Amino acid sequence: MAIFESHGADEVVTGSCHLLRLENGVNILVDCGMYQGKEEHRNEEPFGFDPAEVHVLLVTHAHLDHVGRIPKLVKEGFTGTIIATKATFELANVVLLDSAKLMEEEYRTQYRKALRRGEEKRVKPPLYTVEDVENVWLLPTVHAPYDKPIAVAKGVQAVYRNAGHILGSAFIELSHKEGGAKHKIVFSGDLGNIREIVMPLVEQAHEAEHLVIESTYGDRNHRPMKESVAEFKKAVRETLLNRGNVIIPSFAIERTQDILCILKQMYRDKELPYCKVFLDSPMGIRATNIFNRYVDELRPVCQEFYRRDGDVFDFPGLHFTVDVEDSKRINEIERGAIIIAGSGMCTGGRILHHFKHQIWNERNTVIFVGYQAEGTIGRKIVEGAKWIKIYREKIRVRAKIFTINGFSAHADQNELIRWMKGFEKLGEIFLVHGEYDKQLVLQKAIKKRLGKKATIVEEGKEYFLQPGGKSPTKKKKKK
Ligand code: ZN
Repeated sequence: MAIFESHGADEVVTGSCHLLRLENGVNILVDCGMYQGKEEHRNEEPFGFDPAEVHVLLVTHAHLDHVGRIPKLVKEGFTGTIIATKATFELANVVLLDSAKLMEEEYRTQYRKALRRGEEKRVKPPLYTVEDVENVWLLPTVHAPYDKPIAVAKGVQAVYRNAGHILGSAFIELSHKEGGAKHKIVFSGDLGNIREIVMPLVEQAHEAEHLVIESTYGDRNHRPMKESVAEFKKAVRETLLNRGNVIIPSFAIERTQDILCILKQMYRDKELPYCKVFLDSPMGIRATNIFNRYVDELRPVCQEFYRRDGDVFDFPGLHFTVDVEDSKRINEIERGAIIIAGSGMCTGGRILHHFKHQIWNERNTVIFVGYQAEGTIGRKIVEGAKWIKIYREKIRVRAKIFTINGFSAHADQNELIRWMKGFEKLGEIFLVHGEYDKQLVLQKAIKKRLGKKATIVEEGKEYFLQPGGKSPTKKKKKK
């Protein structure tokens, strides 16, 4: 009987890492993500399994919380094959290199400080380095096309289907033979929001004995996207007409491309006052260039832009800012600029120097289009802070602040339930990738609307997958 265990994204959102041990001895890992926010310390802990015993790693998509621990996995003995869509490999490389560089920089800073105190031996080395990331790509890799079965191991097949979450994202249907019968397990990865701007709709899955599904927004339904887009456009127009600048902290993958696409539509529809738009994020620029190479995987409006202009996102007035000096020069512009910069939660990056130069000015506007975690500068501003501290300098917040919540890249409760309803055959449901209290709400909704019991997956526990998807027996894992 196959055994399923989670070593991340268990009653939390980050650190996705799910292990499937098949009866024929094949061990398959689905995702190997980084823990983020208050779970970050868990990245240092052992995996809870031997990486050398994993034969294949299947990756659902390139977000850091799904790929961020791959270099650690390789460092600790994984030598198997990595399977993902081609776009996921490209984006994952950008994401992992950025992550390694940030950790190396942080290490150097801490080391210098500790050296002055004579405590340099106490500084922890980075989780992995750029060299470790490069070592990942020395392993065998397989590009998974959408909707075509590929061989994963002896007697095991996978089909990647478009999850509509970010470019290259997939949910994975895994089939294997056991006891003469064929079994199917589906891993949802992260499922997209039907109101997405650049990503297509999530495909429907039809059959699973066992479904491992995300539950990020299992407790709520998003505001309609139309309202969010209208609010965004209004804030942009009013600020520019009032001779101010617009600052948008943004995540490099997907959200940045959504914003560029909306601005380009505004330009097309003559709704955008004269302005200069700066994408001031080297990682955002790299990701945007990758999106441009996979036009067929984007929404029709993006394909139309590409056919017309030879580029999905470019329009007159858009500038890509690579150099730090050019980035600093943006702050000399007193009005008529839209600045998109990272990091998305304002924990570092170029957005901070834009805040320093812009947020004290009441003519300017900051538009938050993504989640701001507790403890971040972004969260403080969203919650109405009058002052913030940037590079040890106290700065007055006088700019107008907008928080637009409808741009989520995740399915909400209605969409998760609707997707599960679309299955013709659905056995056992496992909930991962969600905070526990939100999972409880989804669990109840599943019971009420689908008449099914869903299991909230606990860290490191073995779940024996019964043929036919009957309720699994649970056993505490021996430590
Ligand atoms: Zn994701």
